[in-house]
Amino acid sequence: MILRLFLPITMIGIVSDYCRCRALKGRIALVEKMEARIALCKCREGGRTYGVRFEKMGDSWKYTWAFPVKEASAKRENYDKTKIVGNLVPDNGYPGCPYCKTMDFVVCNCGKLSCHNGGAAKFTCNWCGLTGTLGRYDGSGFGSGSDI
Ligand SMILES: [Zn+2]
Ligand SMILES: [Zn+2]
Repeated sequence: MILRLFLPITMIGIVSDYCRCRALKGRIALVEKMEARIALCKCREGGRTYGVRFEKMGDSWKYTWAFPVKEASAKRENYDKTKIVGNLVPDNGYPGCPYCKTMDFVVCNCGKLSCHNGGAAKFTCNWCGLTGTLGRYDGSGFGSGSDI
Protein backbone atom coordinates (compact mmCIF):
# COMPACT_ATOMS: atom_id res chain seq x y z
CA MET A 1 0.00 0.00 0.00
CA ILE A 2 2.98 2.31 -0.21
CA LEU A 3 3.06 4.81 -3.00
CA ARG A 4 6.46 5.82 -4.08
CA LEU A 5 7.03 9.49 -4.59
CA PHE A 6 9.85 10.47 -6.84
CA LEU A 7 11.73 13.39 -5.33
CA PRO A 8 13.32 15.34 -8.14
CA ILE A 9 16.83 16.46 -7.42
CA THR A 10 18.36 19.01 -9.73
CA MET A 11 21.78 17.57 -10.38
CA ILE A 12 23.73 20.06 -12.44
CA GLY A 13 26.71 17.68 -12.44
CA ILE A 14 24.79 14.98 -14.21
CA VAL A 15 23.36 17.36 -16.80
CA SER A 16 26.79 18.70 -17.76
CA ASP A 17 28.20 15.17 -17.86
CA TYR A 18 25.46 14.24 -20.27
CA CYS A 19 26.24 17.19 -22.56
CA ARG A 20 29.91 16.28 -22.58
CA CYS A 21 29.08 12.69 -23.37
CA ARG A 22 26.79 13.70 -26.21
CA ALA A 23 29.41 16.03 -27.70
CA LEU A 24 31.93 13.22 -27.50
CA LYS A 25 29.59 10.79 -29.19
CA GLY A 26 29.02 13.23 -32.03
CA ARG A 27 32.69 12.93 -32.99
CA ILE A 28 32.64 9.16 -33.12
CA ALA A 29 31.25 7.61 -36.27
CA LEU A 30 29.60 4.70 -34.51
CA VAL A 31 26.88 6.38 -32.52
CA GLU A 32 24.87 4.33 -30.08
CA LYS A 33 21.16 4.62 -30.79
CA MET A 34 19.42 6.68 -28.16
CA GLU A 35 16.76 4.78 -26.28
CA ALA A 36 13.59 6.73 -25.59
CA ARG A 37 10.30 5.64 -24.07
CA ILE A 38 6.94 7.12 -23.26
CA ALA A 39 5.16 6.61 -19.93
CA LEU A 40 1.63 7.71 -19.19
CA CYS A 41 0.77 10.04 -16.35
CA LYS A 42 -2.67 11.03 -15.12
CA CYS A 43 -3.42 14.46 -13.77
CA ARG A 44 -5.90 15.05 -10.99
CA GLU A 45 -7.27 18.03 -12.92
CA GLY A 46 -10.09 16.45 -14.88
CA GLY A 47 -8.39 13.05 -14.77
CA ARG A 48 -6.65 13.86 -18.03
CA THR A 49 -3.71 11.83 -19.32
CA TYR A 50 -0.42 12.85 -20.82
CA GLY A 51 2.71 11.14 -22.03
CA VAL A 52 6.13 11.72 -20.50
CA ARG A 53 9.14 11.10 -22.70
CA PHE A 54 12.15 9.44 -21.04
CA GLU A 55 15.64 9.12 -22.52
CA LYS A 56 18.06 6.51 -21.28
CA MET A 57 21.21 7.95 -19.83
CA GLY A 58 23.52 5.29 -18.41
CA ASP A 59 21.63 3.61 -15.58
CA SER A 60 19.19 6.52 -15.26
CA TRP A 61 16.30 7.87 -17.27
CA LYS A 62 16.01 11.55 -18.03
CA TYR A 63 12.52 12.92 -18.51
CA THR A 64 12.57 15.49 -21.24
CA TRP A 65 9.08 16.20 -22.50
CA ALA A 66 5.38 15.97 -21.62
CA PHE A 67 2.47 16.14 -24.07
CA PRO A 68 -1.31 15.64 -23.86
CA VAL A 69 -2.57 12.18 -24.83
CA LYS A 70 -6.17 10.99 -25.14
CA GLU A 71 -6.78 7.90 -23.03
CA ALA A 72 -8.33 6.03 -25.96
CA SER A 73 -5.26 6.50 -28.14
CA ALA A 74 -3.02 5.73 -25.17
CA LYS A 75 -4.56 2.26 -25.01
CA ARG A 76 -3.86 1.72 -28.70
CA GLU A 77 -0.24 2.74 -28.34
CA ASN A 78 0.46 0.11 -25.65
CA TYR A 79 2.21 2.42 -23.26
CA ASP A 80 2.61 -0.35 -20.70
CA LYS A 81 4.42 -2.97 -22.77
CA THR A 82 7.86 -2.26 -21.32
CA LYS A 83 9.21 -1.00 -18.02
CA ILE A 84 11.37 1.94 -17.10
CA VAL A 85 13.65 0.83 -14.29
CA GLY A 86 16.23 3.05 -12.61
CA ASN A 87 16.77 6.51 -11.27
CA LEU A 88 14.88 9.41 -12.81
CA VAL A 89 16.44 12.77 -13.50
CA PRO A 90 14.70 15.85 -14.87
CA ASP A 91 15.96 17.56 -18.00
CA ASN A 92 16.46 21.33 -17.71
CA GLY A 93 13.82 21.85 -20.38
CA TYR A 94 11.17 19.52 -18.93
CA PRO A 95 7.93 21.52 -19.18
CA GLY A 96 5.94 19.72 -16.45
CA CYS A 97 2.35 18.49 -16.66
CA PRO A 98 0.48 20.09 -19.61
CA TYR A 99 -2.54 20.67 -17.34
CA CYS A 100 -1.42 21.54 -13.79
CA LYS A 101 2.27 22.26 -14.59
CA THR A 102 3.61 20.16 -11.73
CA MET A 103 7.13 18.80 -12.27
CA ASP A 104 6.72 15.87 -9.86
CA PHE A 105 4.99 12.56 -10.19
CA VAL A 106 4.09 9.63 -8.00
CA VAL A 107 4.84 6.06 -9.05
CA CYS A 108 2.09 3.72 -7.88
CA ASN A 109 2.23 -0.02 -7.26
CA CYS A 110 -0.10 -0.39 -10.26
CA GLY A 111 2.84 0.68 -12.46
CA LYS A 112 1.45 4.04 -13.51
CA LEU A 113 2.32 7.66 -12.90
CA SER A 114 0.15 10.36 -11.35
CA CYS A 115 0.78 14.07 -10.98
CA HIS A 116 1.91 15.03 -7.52
CA ASN A 117 0.20 18.21 -6.41
CA GLY A 118 0.51 19.67 -2.96
CA GLY A 119 2.19 18.35 0.14
CA ALA A 120 -0.52 16.08 1.58
CA ALA A 121 0.85 13.12 3.56
CA LYS A 122 -1.69 10.77 1.97
CA PHE A 123 -1.91 10.33 -1.75
CA THR A 124 -4.50 8.62 -3.94
CA CYS A 125 -3.46 7.18 -7.29
CA ASN A 126 -5.33 8.81 -10.19
CA TRP A 127 -5.49 5.44 -12.02
CA CYS A 128 -6.37 2.69 -9.55
CA GLY A 129 -7.57 4.71 -6.55
CA LEU A 130 -5.03 3.18 -4.15
CA THR A 131 -4.40 5.48 -1.19
CA GLY A 132 -1.13 5.42 0.72
CA THR A 133 1.71 7.33 2.25
CA LEU A 134 4.37 8.72 -0.02
CA GLY A 135 7.93 7.53 0.25
CA ARG A 136 11.09 7.87 -1.74
CA TYR A 137 10.96 6.23 -5.15
CA ASP A 138 13.41 3.32 -5.32
CA GLY A 139 13.68 3.06 -9.10
CA SER A 140 11.88 -0.29 -9.19
CA GLY A 141 10.07 0.65 -12.35
CA PHE A 142 6.79 1.52 -14.06
CA GLY A 143 5.09 0.83 -17.34
CA SER A 144 6.21 2.43 -20.61
CA GLY A 145 5.96 2.07 -24.34
CA SER A 146 8.21 2.80 -27.28
CA ASP A 147 8.70 6.31 -28.57
CA ILE A 148 6.82 7.27 -31.74
ZN1 LIG B 1 -1.03 17.49 -13.67
ZN1 LIG C 1 -2.29 3.07 -9.00
